[in-house]
Amino acid sequence: MKSVLLAGGAGFIGSHLADRLLKRSDVERLVVVDNLWTGLRENLAHIRDARFTFVRSDVESFQSPCMFDEVYHLASPASPPWYMQEPERTISANLLGAFRLRDLLLPGGRFCFTSTSEVYGDPLVSPQPESYRGSVDCTGPRSSYDESKRCTEAFLFESQRMRGLDVRVVRLFNVYGPRTREDDGRAVSNFIMQALNGRPVTIYGDGMQSRSWGYVDDIVEGLERFFWRDPIEHRRPLNVGNDREIPVIDVARHICRLVPGARITHLDPVPQDPTNRRPDLTVANRVLPGWTCHIPYERGVALTLKWFRSQLTSDYTAMSA
Ligand code: UDP
Repeated sequence: MKSVLLAGGAGFIGSHLADRLLKRSDVERLVVVDNLWTGLRENLAHIRDARFTFVRSDVESFQSPCMFDEVYHLASPASPPWYMQEPERTISANLLGAFRLRDLLLPGGRFCFTSTSEVYGDPLVSPQPESYRGSVDCTGPRSSYDESKRCTEAFLFESQRMRGLDVRVVRLFNVYGPRTREDDGRAVSNFIMQALNGRPVTIYGDGMQSRSWGYVDDIVEGLERFFWRDPIEHRRPLNVGNDREIPVIDVARHICRLVPGARITHLDPVPQDPTNRRPDLTVANRVLPGWTCHIPYERGVALTLKWFRSQLTSDYTAMSA
């Protein structure tokens, strides 16, 4: 039986992972630690399971009376406006969080980490294989996130080399879906919230910059398989994402078609906004045979829109109750 620690489990992706961890019959205890900086307690409010404990704490200073068989490190903001506002805290959560979590791991335990396609920066090759070393500005506006993810990868793979630590690292590409914060600030949720609230849908620059948008259920299925379900020999970073690359403007237009009356406005481009991003899934196809992003962005966006609508309705009901 496994004792599991999930850092960042009240967040968007973390809470989906918590649900899947609790489906495992070999998990005897799941501790979620989250400081609720970008995570939300309500993402876990539906959980009724005696094996589950929530602790509100920074990951770096998390105190635990016991050690764990598995740790999952998802404790970090992922949205540019959030991490740019508190860059030192972002670096600390990722890197010092990894140091702290490694200390809480039992001998022979497993350390799983969600890294990011941001390690590729503004890529000069497309699609990006895991072997691509990236084009990142280590003093640029995104550096607190990009470089702390990169350094945490370095820390983990050196721990693997020096101490034989069992490490699983994924690099995620623009994940979206239910349980994104309303004020998250990333593209899909921003566009949906703006459209639903009758505000202009804000495109930074011309909108021709592109991303590979992965619906959260598909992505978390990949995480589950890589982190614990499949017998995995692969001990290097793994791209997990949708390899269909779509310009930002197309996503915005699609959302405007779904919400009558919505309209687009163009704002100044964001400094050092990556122009493109697309995973090379050659390794993923070998390591996770049959895994793929089944949900095209057209359907994923519609599902996310439906979820945001239901949230707005329940907020309204709560306010008028
Ligand atoms: N973006 C935009 N308007 C918004 C939010 C984002 O045009 O209101 C653009 C942003 O400039 C970037 C892309 O959408 O080119 C994806 O941004 P997001 O913050 O979702 O993710 P990231 O930049 O980290 O890939």
